Amino acid sequence: MKIELDQLFLDAIPILKTLEKNGFQAFFVGGSVRDALLKRPIHDIDITTDATPRQMKDIFETADNYSGEKHGTDLVFFSGKNYEITTFRIDGKYKDDRHPDHVTFTKSLREDLARRDFTINAIAMDSEGRLFDYFGGLDDLKKGVIRSVGMAKKRFSEDALRILRAFRFASQLDFKISPNTLTAATELSNHLRIIATERIFTEFSKLLTGSSADTTLKKMYDLSITKNLPGNDLISDPRKLFYSYRVPKEAEENICWIRFVYLTQLSGNELMLYLKNWKMSNELIKTITKSLALINNPKPDPLDLYNCGQYFYFAIKAWHRSDEKELIEKFENLPIHSNDQLKINGNDLIKAGLIPGPKIGKILNELKQKVIYGRVENSRESLIKEFLNDNRNLGSVKK
Ligand code: ATP
Ligand code: MG
Repeated sequence: MKIELDQLFLDAIPILKTLEKNGFQAFFVGGSVRDALLKRPIHDIDITTDATPRQMKDIFETADNYSGEKHGTDLVFFSGKNYEITTFRIDGKYKDDRHPDHVTFTKSLREDLARRDFTINAIAMDSEGRLFDYFGGLDDLKKGVIRSVGMAKKRFSEDALRILRAFRFASQLDFKISPNTLTAATELSNHLRIIATERIFTEFSKLLTGSSADTTLKKMYDLSITKNLPGNDLISDPRKLFYSYRVPKEAEENICWIRFVYLTQLSGNELMLYLKNWKMSNELIKTITKSLALINNPKPDPLDLYNCGQYFYFAIKAWHRSDEKELIEKFENLPIHSNDQLKINGNDLIKAGLIPGPKIGKILNELKQKVIYGRVENSRESLIKEFLNDNRNLGSVKK
């Protein structure tokens, strides 16, 4: 069977050909092949080969200081792009459910595909578009089934992250998890607790953006799998959380997270603790907390809207509110949207007579608020006049 190749594949075919010319085997594999077969958009290309990273270095320009080498992965710089190329390997015994103890390279494509998580992710494609499917992946793609390669129980005890990955693919592809795989996932789900949170976060983020996130989360809750997720003990009504989540129309990762965290109904210190439990980036924490401040505010005034700032539209997209139109209009009509739009600065105040000192920040902030509330026009003259008129400032101004 052959498939029509997307431009991303066409761009990378010379890499496969170059490896072949040098006497190696090379294939596309994983998500890109799966998604091409499903006619879904492809976002990255995974390549697998029997050339070792050292051998690849002799053939290609490779990225400096790349640390993947000992895992059998090399970053090859080709035609203006970086490609991650992984050497065929058999994963060693798993010590801690996290990382393979050691990797053993192999010359066998079949062995490399056998260590992959699900049959739909274990299909390889060569430079001519020919498919290599040793584990029934094509059949499962047709049926819409996620099935472990080999014995599910063994595969999940090697790496429990695969349990969450099964649900992540169910959510993204609207697939069913095969009965055996689902039973093993349920039985071993508490192994998720020892998986590095960063890995959990990545998979769960993808799950939240999936078109079937709602049914997937319900199922995970019903099977008591969600109780192994970070921060779950902080949630007072987990059923409500996992039963009410719906993927937003704009399913960007941060918008999905805002909606999900909103549904936890957490606030204050507990909310911060919950977000920290997920080990998310400070930027995402800020995005979520700023957006929730707006979503949870029944009647935001102009200063609340200003404070939401660049996060305003995230909040609007994450949670529909009945006064949405009115809020957008109010937000867009704010006289300023950021500090640097204020038509006055500390130097202007000093020139107008203010004695330099710590009061400057406070006075500027008060002026900014007056502008935001529409009490003063945002022009240098009006702002200086306002500053000089304010009796409380008199002590700070040179006579
Ligand atoms: P995406 O489209 O999100 O990139 P993907 O299937 O390519 O999905 P990746 O995380 O990029 O997923 O992994 C690439 C491939 O590596 C997978 O398709 C699978 O064959 C293999 N793989 C990834 N993680 C694991 C794992 N934990 N256990 C076994 N195989 C894995
Ligand atoms: Mg991928």
